[in-house]
Amino acid sequence: MQGMRYIVRHLVLLLGLVMLLAGAVCPAAGKWEIYDVGGVKYVDLSDVWSFYSYSPKKGRAGFISYGGGKYVVSVKPEKQDFYVNNFRYILSFPVRRHGDKLLISTIDMKKLVHPVLRPRFSRHAGVMRTVVLDPGHGGHDAGAVSPWAREKDCNLQLALKVKSRLEKYGFRVVMTRSTDVFLTLKQRVAIANRTPDSIFVSIHHNSGRRAAEGIETFTLAPHGTTSPFAKTRRYADLEGNEQDSENIALATAIHSRAIMSTKATDRGIQRARFSVLCTIKRPAVLFEGGFVSNPEEGRRIATDSYQNKLADSIAEGVLNYSHIVGGNGGKSGLKYHSTRPSSSGSATTRGRSSLNSSNSYRGTTRL
Ligand SMILES: [Zn+2]
Repeated sequence: MQGMRYIVRHLVLLLGLVMLLAGAVCPAAGKWEIYDVGGVKYVDLSDVWSFYSYSPKKGRAGFISYGGGKYVVSVKPEKQDFYVNNFRYILSFPVRRHGDKLLISTIDMKKLVHPVLRPRFSRHAGVMRTVVLDPGHGGHDAGAVSPWAREKDCNLQLALKVKSRLEKYGFRVVMTRSTDVFLTLKQRVAIANRTPDSIFVSIHHNSGRRAAEGIETFTLAPHGTTSPFAKTRRYADLEGNEQDSENIALATAIHSRAIMSTKATDRGIQRARFSVLCTIKRPAVLFEGGFVSNPEEGRRIATDSYQNKLADSIAEGVLNYSHIVGGNGGKSGLKYHSTRPSSSGSATTRGRSSLNSSNSYRGTTRL
């Protein structure tokens, strides 16, 4: 990063960065230098590792990995990839190299790293009882179409399977559409915004180059950031929303289970400014279950068995999320069945963390 100007703006931040994090309670005040890189505030990752009491670990090949307890975190200089236990997130800003230091943005610390690594310190959203499921497209809008699958059909089939599983867990489910009809994005958001105690899960499938494949989950880009892949970089006037911590917790819960269960390519938890995510007043994610344009994946996502697997993952993810944010020490007021409503694995999801310590699917959530 030669030529880039680094300005040490605050030599000492007495109260510790983590006091700023998601309204978190900080167990230890520290001294953190803040670096300004092109108008974005950064902190030294070595301060972060010592705050979490992390030590160097053997992690992903080609990455720098630190960890402790149940987490191993991997980063790469000048990249936006951020792995926690081999699940991929896309940072809002790249990790920067500064001399012998590596820096991470304060926004990513506040809006991603901390809520993921310390979900118990995040703001409790209270009990959620209702899930608004939003199968994307419909009617004259088919979404992505290929010889193997039509997106609007896969979205609806998958959403209906998720609905039945969630209802067996005891959730109330509101569908933005239950048939092949068209709704505007505004109508979809309005349904969620008028449904109390709810979260919003929009279900889509992708299209792209023939070789493109895998699962990705989007949440709204936080205040002051844009999509990592956007061309324009006007940070300051871009709003986030009140649910940033819940958004990333919900995305983590659903995405990690889907990757573990399907072994699909992990395209990561990403930030975006899709209109359904921008105007929603509920915790919200947009889940992309695979590429209809890929010959193998396109065929697979149209099958009943693959849809069952994805539906199990989404429903279990939602259940796990409800425990994380339950506002009652991680236990929600929700009554749920101890047996799983479908084919494989177990429904034990009492843990607070959404991330297993490995990619192998064990069906249980470990603390
Ligand atoms: Zn779509």
